[in-house]
Amino acid sequence: MSTAETPKTTTTTDPTDTQVLVIGAGPTGLLLAGDLATAGVDVTLVERRAHGFANMTRAFGVHARTLEQLDARGLADELVATGTTLGTARLFGRLDLDLTRLPSRFNHLLVTPQYEVERLLERRAVAAGVTFRYGTELRGLRQDADTVTAEFTDPDGAPLTLTARHLVGTDGVRSAVRTALGLPFPGGSVIRSLVLADVRLAEEPTDAFSVSGSGDTFAFLAPFGDGWYRVMGWSRTRQVPDTEPVDLDEVREITRRALGTDLGMHDPRWISRFHSDERQAPSYRVGRVFLAGDAAHVHSPAGGQGMNTGLQDAANLSWKLAAVLRGDAPAPEALLDSYQSERHPVGAAVLRTSGALVRLAMAHTPLTRAARSLAARLLSAVRPASARAMGMISGLGIAYAPPAGSRRPAGRRAPDARLREGRLYELLRAGEFVLITPEGGIPALPPTAPVSPERLVRATWTDPTRRTAVLVRPDGYVHWTSR
Ligand SMILES: Cc1cc2nc3c(=O)[nH]c(=O)nc-3n(C[C@H](O)[C@H](O)[C@H](O)COP(=O)(O)OP(=O)(O)OC[C@H]3O[C@@H](n4cnc5c(N)ncnc54)[C@H](O)[C@@H]3O)c2cc1C
Repeated sequence: MSTAETPKTTTTTDPTDTQVLVIGAGPTGLLLAGDLATAGVDVTLVERRAHGFANMTRAFGVHARTLEQLDARGLADELVATGTTLGTARLFGRLDLDLTRLPSRFNHLLVTPQYEVERLLERRAVAAGVTFRYGTELRGLRQDADTVTAEFTDPDGAPLTLTARHLVGTDGVRSAVRTALGLPFPGGSVIRSLVLADVRLAEEPTDAFSVSGSGDTFAFLAPFGDGWYRVMGWSRTRQVPDTEPVDLDEVREITRRALGTDLGMHDPRWISRFHSDERQAPSYRVGRVFLAGDAAHVHSPAGGQGMNTGLQDAANLSWKLAAVLRGDAPAPEALLDSYQSERHPVGAAVLRTSGALVRLAMAHTPLTRAARSLAARLLSAVRPASARAMGMISGLGIAYAPPAGSRRPAGRRAPDARLREGRLYELLRAGEFVLITPEGGIPALPPTAPVSPERLVRATWTDPTRRTAVLVRPDGYVHWTSR
């Protein structure tokens, strides 16, 4: 039993071993399992690794919408304290995206190692009563009309079978769940031989966060805020397999060629070489089984979208599964299908954006360099274009189709309004729908709302002139407005 294993706090008469099996304790699985347990769902999180966090920081950029999601779980301020916030992102050496204009409490990019996000999410999941099984690997699964049966090897290598009502594969890019479902993962390689290091610098960079280069080489620097910097570099003339050793001299050389200086980098805590694919599963749901995070989509690291998109997949799916399992959803199948219809297009858009960013950074023919210049000019000069780009990268611009019978703003992100009872994102910490009404007004909810009236969190506008009622989903999107 791992140290993080906890007794279940939920009691259920369900004959399955657990209501939801979540496979993979990366950021996506941790957030999903924590949400489900907070909603009173019996959930088991199975992870192949032994318990513990790697020092290797893969993701290091946490965007505004993810910080809002973490705020709605009471974790954002603590996470912000672990890193450094940047108000500007510089692309192509000259295009500055002014993140301070973002309409959010988190009008910046947070640079912090992925393991800090995982640490907070794991702590929350443990406190909420998730059952953890570390050292346990999924080998296969089957499903029928009511149940999913999953086969594992336990920490001693012995076979283990667990049953559940639903199973979610958050088991990363080489997802065993996706393979067991027989789903393809179409796409291809977007960039090879990226070198990556966490280093100390002798000189402070003039730009806190910058991507620059000629198209034959580029480098990127971001400060963690504690003296460590993330460097990522690429050179057209050094294209080798991931297995080829990489040392600090190679990282220095690429950085010098891209930025004109290596800023005296030294003392790397880790260095690695990797390639990046662009792939997306055609379906995020097959019957009772779902995919989320890297198991469902993978793309270039440009724009720092991977972990952010996975966390938002989890936030979208968790309340839907909880509503169905608690019997609160009048149309359970449609609600579960809305995970695919809402999140698959977002994944596809992230593939397009991060793919475009990395291709523009690598642009080296006269034509592609002209396209890069044009993109940079457009984004700096045309306010709606830069607002759109920032909305996409920060995640704040993501909106879903309004549910049947509703109209805008249904489907849009609900901003963090100040209400009589506190901020909206504080009220969302209950993990339930929030109904905001004018004083004294309790409207009839639409019969299709997947929420039971007893679980609703009720709140009142501070502004007495606001006459509409708004029903906000647990993931902070508008479900319905009274007019
Ligand atoms: C170099 C680099 C830089 C990046 N930078 C950023 C960034 O700045 N911002 C950003 O948002 N994203 C970034 N990413 C992407 C980000 O790291 C991933 O998108 C994120 O880790 C995905 O989270 P996940 O939980 O979906 O999957 P993972 O983190 O991959 O977790 C999957 C988990 O499943 C477990 N598992 C796998 N198979 C099984 C099995 N059969 N049984 C049980 N458990 C299993 C694994 O051990 C693992 O713990 C970067 C990635 C790389 C490589």
